[in-house]
Amino acid sequence: MSTGLRYKSKLATPEDKQDIDKQYVGFATLPNQVHRKSVKKGFDFTLMVAGESGLGKSTLVHSLFLTDLYKERKLLSAEERISQTVEILKHTVDIEEKGVKLKLTIVDTPGFGDAVNNSECWKPITDYVDQQFEQYFRDESGLNRKNIQDNRVHCCLYFISPFGHGLRPVDVGFMKALHEKVNIVPLIAKADCLVPGEIRKLKERIREEIDKFGIHVYQFPECDSDEDEDFKQQDRELKVCLQPHGVGRDPEAFDTRPRGGPRPRPRTDLGGNTIFPWGRARVAQAPSATSGMCNLVNRSRNACQD
Ligand code: GDP
Repeated sequence: MSTGLRYKSKLATPEDKQDIDKQYVGFATLPNQVHRKSVKKGFDFTLMVAGESGLGKSTLVHSLFLTDLYKERKLLSAEERISQTVEILKHTVDIEEKGVKLKLTIVDTPGFGDAVNNSECWKPITDYVDQQFEQYFRDESGLNRKNIQDNRVHCCLYFISPFGHGLRPVDVGFMKALHEKVNIVPLIAKADCLVPGEIRKLKERIREEIDKFGIHVYQFPECDSDEDEDFKQQDRELKVCLQPHGVGRDPEAFDTRPRGGPRPRPRTDLGGNTIFPWGRARVAQAPSATSGMCNLVNRSRNACQD
């Protein structure tokens, strides 16, 4: 005997169909239930940004999530930076997009790579990542597992200086120390400072060095062969633009922001680029910067949860 409501055989209008869908009782409604529950609960996403000061970390976070998390940031002088130790700062903000809630945590690492001697300066960062794993493990083994706060780092955007000739020892050290623990996405910062030929060469060099040092950066999982063609196409496009990305403004753009003036809220154009008064932020070679990065961020989060 069937437990589900039987559909009428006559042609139903869309309203009839909705009514029937509402009355339907059966396991075919499970995806709807899961969807409703997840949307109601919201999602957690923890993103780490690392790289030396001034490479555009806060600007990228601002343009990706349209949230100014750095309002109270104190900029240090060059002298103070030399003696500064690496800190771990967490900013959490609740954002909502089309009814879907996201608890976004940005883990910033001010002071990383700024000192004269940068040996082992990634140690506080690896310790922090390990602590989050331990905390999660302890919470999972405890009795009250209903409201576990997941603070594990889902993705780390690592900013590489565009002015070097590839990876510096501190970049290699950081990535080697963390590549087994978090999904690392290397980015060439301020790629708009380089001409296309220079970007290509730098990318090739970085790719070679990543292989040479056995660093595992984030790779998209293979999509199932039975996925639809649109999804496969999107997957192919994302894979092409992967490793390492270049983030930067349009080459022809220039900064008209008054020194120390308020940080204007960027807008997003139809192509998904984020527009500042001084130019557009986009990922080099990606179909669109912000959407590409957002997809990447979403996909790496999924990969972490799988
Ligand atoms: P952070 O210290 O890494 O957080 O760097 P900020 O986001 O504060 O950026 C430092 C400076 O670089 C600011 O003056 C930004 O306007 C500028 N900047 C940020 N992103 C870019 C970029 O993509 N290209 C260029 N040319 N400048 C940028």
